[in-house]
Amino acid sequence: MQKETKSTTKNNPKLNKSNKPQNGKKKIKVFTKKKKAKTPESKLIQELQEKYDAIDLSAVTSFNDIPLSSQTMKGLKKGGYTKPTEIQLQTLKQSLKGEDILGAAQTGSGKTLAFLIPVLEILYCHQFTRTDGVGAVVITPTRELAYQIFEELRKIGEFHEFSAGLVIGGKDLKFERERMDQCNIIICTPGRLLQHMDENPLFTCDNMKVVVLDEADRILDMGFAETMNAIIANLPPIRQTLLFSATQTKSVKDLARLSLKDPSYVSVHDNKEFSTPTSLQQSYMVCELHEKISVLYSFIRNHLKAKSIIFFSSCKQTKYVYEIFCKLRPGLSLMALYGSLHQLKRMEIYQQFCNKTHAVLFATDLAARGLDFPNVNWVVQADCPEDAETYIHRVGRTARYHRGGESLLLLLPSEIAMVDELQKYKIPIEKIDINPDKLTNPVRKMEAYLAKDHELKDTAQRAFKSYFKAVYLMKNKKIFNVKILDTTAFAHSLGMAIAPRIRFLERLVRKDGLNVNDGEHKFIENPPQNKVIKFESDDEDSVPKTVTKSKVKQSTVTSTSTSKLGDDSDEDDDDDMLQIKRADHDIEMPENLEELTITGRKKNKPLTKAALAKKMLNKQIVPNKKITFDDDGEVIPDGTKQKQSGLAQEYENEDEGGINIEKAKAILREEDQYDKQLFKEKVKAKKREVKRKLKEQKKANKVDEDEGVDDFGSDDEEGSEPDLSWMPDPDKLYGPAADEEDYNLATYESEEEEEIAPPPQIKTKKRKSKQIDEDTSDKEKTKLKAKKKMKLDNVSALNVNEAEELAMMLLGK
Ligand code: ADP
Ligand code: MG
Repeated sequence: MQKETKSTTKNNPKLNKSNKPQNGKKKIKVFTKKKKAKTPESKLIQELQEKYDAIDLSAVTSFNDIPLSSQTMKGLKKGGYTKPTEIQLQTLKQSLKGEDILGAAQTGSGKTLAFLIPVLEILYCHQFTRTDGVGAVVITPTRELAYQIFEELRKIGEFHEFSAGLVIGGKDLKFERERMDQCNIIICTPGRLLQHMDENPLFTCDNMKVVVLDEADRILDMGFAETMNAIIANLPPIRQTLLFSATQTKSVKDLARLSLKDPSYVSVHDNKEFSTPTSLQQSYMVCELHEKISVLYSFIRNHLKAKSIIFFSSCKQTKYVYEIFCKLRPGLSLMALYGSLHQLKRMEIYQQFCNKTHAVLFATDLAARGLDFPNVNWVVQADCPEDAETYIHRVGRTARYHRGGESLLLLLPSEIAMVDELQKYKIPIEKIDINPDKLTNPVRKMEAYLAKDHELKDTAQRAFKSYFKAVYLMKNKKIFNVKILDTTAFAHSLGMAIAPRIRFLERLVRKDGLNVNDGEHKFIENPPQNKVIKFESDDEDSVPKTVTKSKVKQSTVTSTSTSKLGDDSDEDDDDDMLQIKRADHDIEMPENLEELTITGRKKNKPLTKAALAKKMLNKQIVPNKKITFDDDGEVIPDGTKQKQSGLAQEYENEDEGGINIEKAKAILREEDQYDKQLFKEKVKAKKREVKRKLKEQKKANKVDEDEGVDDFGSDDEEGSEPDLSWMPDPDKLYGPAADEEDYNLATYESEEEEEIAPPPQIKTKKRKSKQIDEDTSDKEKTKLKAKKKMKLDNVSALNVNEAEELAMMLLGK
């Protein structure tokens, strides 16, 4: 077996054979087309295939009793595998014969080999070579799991000639693209596979013989639905399909999508007493939310010689607890694995934790499925899993392949119903109590660290919020009730002095007439279910994207729909495994959905000027305010920006909300007088200035044609305005009432609109333009037009007074 990066020629016995020296000369054959006619190998294959039917499962004591190719046998031996596990034994016969399989077996029972062995054998029997392209595709939900399977394949496939590729997000797409068509076996995550299907013209699955879905129930649930439907559409209809999981899907709908042919459902734990490994000792502890941190800290301090995984419901919590516990230095290695980490970091942490004997890994459900960390002693679930299946996969990280292990589940008093759920799933779990003597509360130290480290404080706040979001988004409302949680106590337990606001929760609680911080435990029945939440994530913090039910129905999935995915596209795939089952949850949504997004930004709504203005008004920000002082240090009032009339000033000092149209009209009339006065003064000053300039010009006797252009340019200079005193008074021409009405209406409406409506004066200006043409000399017209254009371009940026002043200038007497 070669990795996709290596050339196969080196280990290819056929090519080596042809390169043997003949008559002292080295004959080099660049390419040998494999003859598919009778060869000794094809005879061997035929013999193997004939033995499949005769396999006697009860007589099998080792892999030698199963008709497997010598290459696979050598690989198994080298990997240290001699005896097949139950799931391997029960499925190999059918899978070797080419049947579709639905395999269910407890965590750590050897499902990986149960599909890798048939994959190798099927390609061997088809005599696949590099030139035959992709023969098998193994799809897994996470990159780490894909990597683990790839390593296992390299181990047992070493003596085969096939090439294999690990196709996961976060890696060099171009590098993968160039080699994809040369791979016989591809181990991949769904997003990245689809990306290649869509974007890579060299990649085709036309010759594919077998597709494997590891953690099949996860791959087939709503979280991957769109991607998987598109992938399935690209697979050849005639193929073998193998599905494996500890919690197998039996949904007819899922299986129909895969068009399985008469699949064999093989479950080795259906008849067993328990659905979790017997070597696993499971317990739960009831504690309040604010006690969790001290329980976890005490657990770590009391298990310094163990290897443990602690699961949280969100990335942000995982990050915070990891960071603050690192500062507390409990006395062993701490690590954290969650979806929002960079891929290389994820891989590094995965490897590091594999190699450690004593360590704690804080993780999200990214690490819940499939990962085979060696010798994990403890699995602690700091946050209640969303369902029994998630519980099974989390605890399955310990007690693997006949080894022992222990698990601890922390439940809030309100989550106690989870125990019944677990028992329904044949999960034996015992209650244990907190030993107060062994409890250490690190909260004082945490407070001190947060006080001096603002970044850490931010992380704490995000962790705090993300916990409530995660609880809110859980489907089973009988177990998860976000409204009754004591936010203040929880914030203190995380080291924060005050609890950050959680707006969506406040709204929810307000709706129910509860005070969010009163800590009152009151059970609230399931809320009305009217919206569907869809999750998108490059962060596992349950980033919900709301879609109405009808939208979900409408969304037809084509492979091209995802073709725009970037390099990290299947980050989603990997990371929304936490949310996958929640994807089709019916959850009551708060009115303001953007509250639930990670960034807190409205994702679909552009930030309009009006929204920005509103925000600034709310925060009482005065942008670019210019204050002029006189020689005595007194403020010179800016007549153009500040209200002059007594009535207007009185109005401005009022605290009342809303707009009183009548009062506003009266104010405008009063303000108009001041504005006219101001304008007259300006015009007079302008006239004087023009006269002075003319005099100077005459004196200098230097008038030339180009000066008009310079004049035009000088319009930009501060204080220089064109002489508009000749223009007619609009009030006299059109009467004041009409303009006033327009004006008021427009001002009022702009409050409601998303974008700031341009002031109505623009219309009026158009009406006057003819008049201007008649009375102006050409040179002045050019000047005026340019000036107007400039002003109009910026008109939406002017405030009411400025706009009015502009209009007055243009329309002035
Ligand atoms: P699952 O997928 O069922 O959770 P894995 O395939 O990850 O389990 O296997 C769990 C562990 O069991 C791995 O460490 C693997 O190497 C080991 N294992 C699997 N099959 C065998 C076997 N036949 N003999 C010995 N060890 C095995
Ligand atoms: Mg597995």
